[in-house]
Amino acid sequence: MRAVFLDRDGVINRYPGDRRYVTSWKSFRFLPRAKAALKHLQEEGFKLFIVSNQAGVSKGLYTRGTLMRITKNMLGELKASGVTLSGVYYCTHRHEENCSCRKPKPGLIRRAVKALAHKGLKLRRSQSYFIGDSMTDVQTGKSAGLKTVLVFSGKEKPVNRQGWNLRPDYAVADLSAAARSITQIKK
Ligand SMILES: [Mg+2]
Ligand SMILES: [Zn+2]
Repeated sequence: MRAVFLDRDGVINRYPGDRRYVTSWKSFRFLPRAKAALKHLQEEGFKLFIVSNQAGVSKGLYTRGTLMRITKNMLGELKASGVTLSGVYYCTHRHEENCSCRKPKPGLIRRAVKALAHKGLKLRRSQSYFIGDSMTDVQTGKSAGLKTVLVFSGKEKPVNRQGWNLRPDYAVADLSAAARSITQIKK
Protein backbone atom coordinates (compact mmCIF):
# COMPACT_ATOMS: atom_id res chain seq x y z
CA MET A 1 0.00 0.00 0.00
CA ARG A 2 1.33 3.41 -0.99
CA ALA A 3 0.62 6.61 0.90
CA VAL A 4 1.33 10.30 0.71
CA PHE A 5 1.78 12.12 3.99
CA LEU A 6 1.18 15.83 3.72
CA ASP A 7 1.97 18.77 5.91
CA ARG A 8 -1.04 21.08 6.03
CA ASP A 9 -0.15 24.79 6.25
CA GLY A 10 1.76 26.00 3.19
CA VAL A 11 0.99 22.79 1.30
CA ILE A 12 -2.78 22.39 1.23
CA ASN A 13 -3.76 25.80 2.56
CA ARG A 14 -2.12 29.21 2.56
CA TYR A 15 0.94 29.55 4.80
CA PRO A 16 0.05 31.82 7.73
CA GLY A 17 3.64 33.14 8.10
CA ASP A 18 6.58 32.30 10.35
CA ARG A 19 5.50 31.59 13.95
CA ARG A 20 1.91 32.32 12.93
CA TYR A 21 -1.04 29.95 12.90
CA VAL A 22 -4.35 29.31 11.21
CA THR A 23 -6.56 30.22 14.18
CA SER A 24 -10.00 30.01 12.55
CA TRP A 25 -11.82 28.47 9.59
CA LYS A 26 -12.14 32.00 8.21
CA SER A 27 -8.37 32.21 7.85
CA PHE A 28 -8.06 28.78 6.23
CA ARG A 29 -7.63 29.21 2.47
CA PHE A 30 -7.04 26.29 0.14
CA LEU A 31 -4.09 26.94 -2.16
CA PRO A 32 -4.85 27.02 -5.90
CA ARG A 33 -5.03 23.54 -7.47
CA ALA A 34 -4.46 21.81 -4.10
CA LYS A 35 -7.75 19.90 -4.12
CA ALA A 36 -7.25 18.73 -7.70
CA ALA A 37 -3.71 17.59 -6.81
CA LEU A 38 -5.02 15.51 -3.90
CA LYS A 39 -7.62 14.00 -6.19
CA HIS A 40 -4.90 13.13 -8.69
CA LEU A 41 -2.81 11.38 -6.00
CA GLN A 42 -5.86 9.53 -4.74
CA GLU A 43 -6.69 8.34 -8.25
CA GLU A 44 -3.12 7.04 -8.58
CA GLY A 45 -3.83 4.78 -5.61
CA PHE A 46 -2.16 6.69 -2.80
CA LYS A 47 -3.78 6.83 0.62
CA LEU A 48 -3.62 10.40 1.92
CA PHE A 49 -2.72 11.57 5.42
CA ILE A 50 -2.19 15.00 6.93
CA VAL A 51 0.59 15.27 9.49
CA SER A 52 0.82 18.73 11.03
CA ASN A 53 2.36 20.55 13.99
CA GLN A 54 -0.19 22.87 15.60
CA ALA A 55 1.60 24.23 18.66
CA GLY A 56 -0.74 27.23 18.64
CA VAL A 57 -3.12 25.06 20.66
CA SER A 58 -0.63 24.66 23.53
CA LYS A 59 0.21 28.34 23.24
CA GLY A 60 -3.47 29.14 23.79
CA LEU A 61 -3.88 30.93 20.44
CA TYR A 62 -6.82 28.72 19.44
CA THR A 63 -8.57 25.83 21.10
CA ARG A 64 -8.54 22.15 20.28
CA GLY A 65 -12.24 22.62 19.45
CA THR A 66 -11.40 25.26 16.87
CA LEU A 67 -8.75 22.98 15.35
CA MET A 68 -11.34 20.21 15.11
CA ARG A 69 -13.83 22.58 13.48
CA ILE A 70 -11.25 23.68 10.92
CA THR A 71 -10.49 20.01 10.22
CA LYS A 72 -14.14 19.08 9.85
CA ASN A 73 -14.77 21.94 7.41
CA MET A 74 -11.62 21.14 5.46
CA LEU A 75 -12.60 17.47 5.17
CA GLY A 76 -16.09 18.50 4.08
CA GLU A 77 -14.75 20.68 1.27
CA LEU A 78 -12.37 17.96 0.19
CA LYS A 79 -15.14 15.41 0.17
CA ALA A 80 -17.18 17.70 -2.06
CA SER A 81 -14.22 17.59 -4.47
CA GLY A 82 -14.12 13.81 -4.33
CA VAL A 83 -11.15 13.56 -1.96
CA THR A 84 -11.21 11.33 1.11
CA LEU A 85 -8.32 11.52 3.56
CA SER A 86 -7.34 8.37 5.44
CA GLY A 87 -6.29 10.31 8.51
CA VAL A 88 -5.44 13.71 9.96
CA TYR A 89 -2.83 13.75 12.72
CA TYR A 90 -1.79 16.79 14.73
CA CYS A 91 0.85 17.47 17.33
CA THR A 92 -0.50 20.29 19.49
CA HIS A 93 2.53 20.46 21.78
CA ARG A 94 5.19 23.11 22.03
CA HIS A 95 8.82 22.34 21.37
CA GLU A 96 9.59 22.68 25.12
CA GLU A 97 7.17 19.90 25.99
CA ASN A 98 9.53 17.45 24.30
CA CYS A 99 6.74 15.15 23.10
CA SER A 100 7.31 12.25 20.73
CA CYS A 101 4.92 13.53 18.05
CA ARG A 102 6.20 16.98 17.12
CA LYS A 103 7.84 16.90 13.69
CA PRO A 104 10.67 16.21 12.85
CA LYS A 105 9.98 13.32 15.21
CA PRO A 106 8.14 10.48 13.47
CA GLY A 107 5.44 9.91 16.14
CA LEU A 108 2.52 11.06 13.98
CA ILE A 109 3.60 8.90 11.05
CA ARG A 110 4.00 5.99 13.42
CA ARG A 111 0.39 6.50 14.52
CA ALA A 112 -0.81 6.51 10.91
CA VAL A 113 1.15 3.34 10.16
CA LYS A 114 -0.41 1.70 13.21
CA ALA A 115 -3.90 2.67 12.07
CA LEU A 116 -3.19 1.15 8.65
CA ALA A 117 -1.89 -2.05 10.22
CA HIS A 118 -5.08 -2.21 12.21
CA LYS A 119 -6.94 -2.43 8.88
CA GLY A 120 -4.55 -5.12 7.67
CA LEU A 121 -2.66 -2.71 5.40
CA LYS A 122 1.10 -2.50 5.21
CA LEU A 123 2.76 0.75 4.23
CA ARG A 124 5.37 0.39 1.48
CA ARG A 125 7.68 3.16 2.65
CA SER A 126 9.99 3.09 -0.39
CA GLN A 127 7.01 3.93 -2.60
CA SER A 128 5.45 6.46 -0.23
CA TYR A 129 6.07 10.18 0.11
CA PHE A 130 6.12 13.05 2.54
CA ILE A 131 5.22 16.43 1.05
CA GLY A 132 5.98 19.56 3.06
CA ASP A 133 6.91 23.22 2.80
CA SER A 134 9.75 23.21 5.34
CA MET A 135 13.03 21.40 5.90
CA THR A 136 11.49 20.02 9.09
CA ASP A 137 9.06 18.14 6.87
CA VAL A 138 11.88 16.82 4.70
CA GLN A 139 13.67 15.64 7.83
CA THR A 140 10.49 13.97 9.09
CA GLY A 141 9.94 12.11 5.84
CA LYS A 142 13.53 10.97 5.57
CA SER A 143 13.68 9.71 9.14
CA ALA A 144 10.49 7.72 8.47
CA GLY A 145 12.04 6.11 5.40
CA LEU A 146 9.79 7.93 2.94
CA LYS A 147 10.61 9.76 -0.27
CA THR A 148 10.35 13.51 0.22
CA VAL A 149 8.99 16.44 -1.76
CA LEU A 150 9.62 20.03 -0.75
CA VAL A 151 7.15 22.58 -2.08
CA PHE A 152 7.84 26.30 -2.38
CA SER A 153 4.24 27.36 -1.72
CA GLY A 154 4.91 28.07 1.97
CA LYS A 155 7.83 28.52 4.33
CA GLU A 156 10.90 27.37 2.39
CA LYS A 157 12.18 29.30 -0.62
CA PRO A 158 14.53 28.26 -3.46
CA VAL A 159 16.94 31.07 -2.52
CA ASN A 160 17.89 29.11 0.64
CA ARG A 161 18.86 26.04 -1.36
CA GLN A 162 22.60 26.41 -0.73
CA GLY A 163 22.08 26.20 3.01
CA TRP A 164 20.14 22.95 2.98
CA ASN A 165 21.76 20.07 4.81
CA LEU A 166 19.17 17.65 3.43
CA ARG A 167 18.19 16.95 -0.14
CA PRO A 168 14.53 16.28 -0.85
CA ASP A 169 13.85 13.88 -3.72
CA TYR A 170 11.94 16.66 -5.46
CA ALA A 171 11.75 20.41 -4.86
CA VAL A 172 8.88 21.94 -6.79
CA ALA A 173 6.53 24.92 -6.86
CA ASP A 174 3.45 23.52 -5.18
CA LEU A 175 1.29 20.50 -4.44
CA SER A 176 0.08 20.31 -8.01
CA ALA A 177 3.67 20.02 -9.28
CA ALA A 178 4.45 17.57 -6.46
CA ALA A 179 1.62 15.30 -7.57
CA ARG A 180 2.91 15.41 -11.15
CA SER A 181 6.47 14.61 -10.03
CA ILE A 182 5.30 11.69 -7.92
CA THR A 183 3.11 10.23 -10.62
CA GLN A 184 5.76 10.87 -13.28
CA ILE A 185 3.45 12.81 -15.51
CA LYS A 186 5.44 15.53 -17.20
CA LYS A 187 3.60 18.67 -18.16
MG1 LIG B 1 3.90 23.85 6.71
ZN1 LIG C 1 3.42 16.37 20.17
